[in-house]
Amino acid sequence: MIKAVRGTRDLLPPDTALWNFVEAAARDVFRAYNFQEIRTPILEDLSLFQRSVGEETDIVSKEMFAWEDRGRAASEKGQMLALRPENTAGVVRAYIEHKLWERPGVQKLYYIGPQFRRERPQKGRYRQFYQIGAEAIGPPAAGSESPARDAEILEMLATLLDRLGIRDWTLELNSVGCPNDRPRYFEALRAAINPVVAQMCADCQRRAVTNPLRMFDCKVPEDQPIVSKLPRISDYLDEACREHFAEVQRILTALEVPFTINDRLVRGLDYYQRTAFEFTHGALGAQNAILGGGRYDGLSETLGGPRAPGIGFAIGEDRLVLALPGSAEALAHKPDAYIAPLGAGMNREAAKLARELRKHDLVIEMGDESFRLKKSFDTADKLGAHYVIIVGENEVASGNFALKQLGGEQQTVPRSELASRIQSHK
Ligand code: AMP
Repeated sequence: MIKAVRGTRDLLPPDTALWNFVEAAARDVFRAYNFQEIRTPILEDLSLFQRSVGEETDIVSKEMFAWEDRGRAASEKGQMLALRPENTAGVVRAYIEHKLWERPGVQKLYYIGPQFRRERPQKGRYRQFYQIGAEAIGPPAAGSESPARDAEILEMLATLLDRLGIRDWTLELNSVGCPNDRPRYFEALRAAINPVVAQMCADCQRRAVTNPLRMFDCKVPEDQPIVSKLPRISDYLDEACREHFAEVQRILTALEVPFTINDRLVRGLDYYQRTAFEFTHGALGAQNAILGGGRYDGLSETLGGPRAPGIGFAIGEDRLVLALPGSAEALAHKPDAYIAPLGAGMNREAAKLARELRKHDLVIEMGDESFRLKKSFDTADKLGAHYVIIVGENEVASGNFALKQLGGEQQTVPRSELASRIQSHK
């Protein structure tokens, strides 16, 4: 038997109702904050992620689905392609490719779609997973660098979680500084690491040389006592970064959005500068990060674009769905009425009636003229239909139909009143 590939899964009804509920709520909230949808390809040039997410990150160094495409001619080397592991890089590539900075204001873009990472699958961690994310990016003159953008995004996320009925969330906030304060900080980090680096894992030994900030991503238990004592970037922020971060916090406080400062939070992607954040959720266990994001003021330039500061986030939709309080059953729709055609030639009459009723925005399911009445009723009951309508020769000829409420009464209703009668139960 051929099964779904390891780390991927089928989303089946009624669970898909939860996914649609989440996506509809997200689209509503994005609209209120004036974000518009962008859809970028799942397939991108591998170098896009090497240059943005960073070669030293776990995502790029260990978790990419990447391969060489066939060259156009036999002699030609093929392009290195990758399934996107995240969507910010693709959005910023599109921003540059389509000169979106020529459009007025800050570009506020959102996306919903699958991402791919070759991780070890477990509950809440998949190889194909889904992110709902947004980016606010634009020229500095449009206000894209302002701490007000950070606060707006964070407050929007709090609003979305609240609307979804998710209460038990914590916003963890940090500033990871900017290129201006990194040299001083890296110097301090290296000085602290040098005496102990030989005791650390192979990854950390390499990171200590190439990209010391990535040591904070280390998950090796033996390294944690060392990592926890490393100098914090919060002590090395320059005046501008410090003030930016303070203003984000002042606005959040004014908006009554609760947050905690976590000065070890660096996020596992290289492009972040200044504000970095994560929302965690109590009920999710080990994979408790429901979403993450931050500012990426240098990313556009890294990818060959103009200066375009930005901030964004990605929600793990799989985890968001796990955190929802409601059940899928309650959200999934049930037929308002089940039409039971009775006898030869009645399928076409049932189809005509179904067509009429569906125009009234009713959910209609149909049986088959070969079914006995009992089988129709049993099926309607199993499907959770509210009414059964019997369509036989007499009903069609007289224009009066038996409308039976399952577990309730039966009435005779003229054809023209069927829709309104069914609607009235809703
Ligand atoms: P990141 O793109 O790494 O910043 O992750 C943002 C969010 O995506 C995380 O907080 C998770 O909720 C979600 N996420 C990341 N990787 C996975 C995965 N392998 N499976 C499910 N969700 C994930």
